[in-house]
Amino acid sequence: MASKYGEIVEESLNALLNDTSFLPNFSGDERKNAFTSLESILSTPNQIQKSFLRVPLENGKILRIPAFRVQHNNAVGPYKGGIRFHETVEEDEVINLATLMTLKNALHDVPFGGGKGGVVINPREFSEKELHTISKTYVQNFSDILGPDKDIPAPDVGTGEREMDWMMGEFKNIHPGRPYRGSFTGKSQMNGGSLGRREATGKGVYFTLRYMIHNFINENEGWFKENENRFAKTALNHTKRELTIGIQGFGNVGSVAALESYQCNYLNTKVVAVSDRNVTLYNGDGLDIEALVDFTSKHNGDLPTTKEALSQNGIKADIQDRADVLYLDTDVLILAALEDQIHEDNVDKVKARMIVEGANGPITLGADRKLSDEGVLVIPDILANAGGVIVSYFEWLQGRETQFYSEEEVSTMLFKKMKETMDEIFPQFFSDPFPLRQNCYIHTVMKLSDIMYRHGKLY
Ligand code: GLU
Repeated sequence: MASKYGEIVEESLNALLNDTSFLPNFSGDERKNAFTSLESILSTPNQIQKSFLRVPLENGKILRIPAFRVQHNNAVGPYKGGIRFHETVEEDEVINLATLMTLKNALHDVPFGGGKGGVVINPREFSEKELHTISKTYVQNFSDILGPDKDIPAPDVGTGEREMDWMMGEFKNIHPGRPYRGSFTGKSQMNGGSLGRREATGKGVYFTLRYMIHNFINENEGWFKENENRFAKTALNHTKRELTIGIQGFGNVGSVAALESYQCNYLNTKVVAVSDRNVTLYNGDGLDIEALVDFTSKHNGDLPTTKEALSQNGIKADIQDRADVLYLDTDVLILAALEDQIHEDNVDKVKARMIVEGANGPITLGADRKLSDEGVLVIPDILANAGGVIVSYFEWLQGRETQFYSEEEVSTMLFKKMKETMDEIFPQFFSDPFPLRQNCYIHTVMKLSDIMYRHGKLY
């Protein structure tokens, strides 16, 4: 069975088959063969590596922990994508996520291919020393296939600057005298990381919403008012009034998107609900996001879960079940937790008319079709959460140049890149019946196909 993203690639290619302006040199049977080749190249990874990490624990036991690195496609450049530490990691999921990275990088003209790694652990159950061993052993076991011009990992769920610093240190040990600064991105600033990398994904997520609602619609207001497209109507309906936002996940992505909204002077938005693995916090008048960020920074990333904790920190909110955030009556829902959060069994309970995917794959394909049929506008992962890998690219460049950009320069370059992608896609999206996700996939599949054609890969 085709993977989740394999299925979307197939749909996109089907939509392009009869468009003769795309790959115009192919016709008849030759065209069919070229499309079949494209589909098989894009729906399968180039390499899947699995290894068991030998990890001696502090209590004297030795574990063998399964770990993966999937290299999906490198037509555009070296493989690139995060390494996640999570107990639900499995091979198929890593393949899916590596595929998404190929498509995401090509969409935004980031000169990287797609890869992804994973280690099957719950990092909260390990000591810092053990996590250090896991990170180093990962690099030892995959060292042959990693490198600044081969495959460049970055943080993902359960990993961050600390792990990237350890990993780059180990890469340098294993390959003395070789360039190493570009071997990992998302490192700490002291260690060659880029200013603004940690905030990049969350900032980019909020920027896609802000750009669509504030800039793009305002600049094309007349056209929008006449536009009968169901998504154009949904978007127009979200302009010129206060928007309430619910955010699932208050980690690196969700908390930064929440702060962006809290501090935004362009769009009138109010974050009324945030959630994490324990609770949903709700306040119809708007939550004090700065106080919540301050709280989580002192409590291992967790939101307050009791009335006492809330009142001691001067935070006004009702405590609700952690899943409630998905079903509240907010205008916008930002999904910044894990995959498959909205699926066919709960999609009917979702009330928000705009959804932004901060996490990778938080809506299943079935649920996504249902939402689109109802005119719910989903800004998909491939577009919305690319800020992380875009700033990873800037970090990689800065490592090569050993010249560093200011935080403001990084933000300006990030927004410019995301704006270019949106300007390329929005006019068509608001004119045709396809959801934004499909528009993005059609664009990126066209770019990748053209590159592979030029590389002579379709014969
Ligand atoms: N893990 C992030 C993603 O899924 C960032 C990857 C990177 O920076 O290479 O997009």
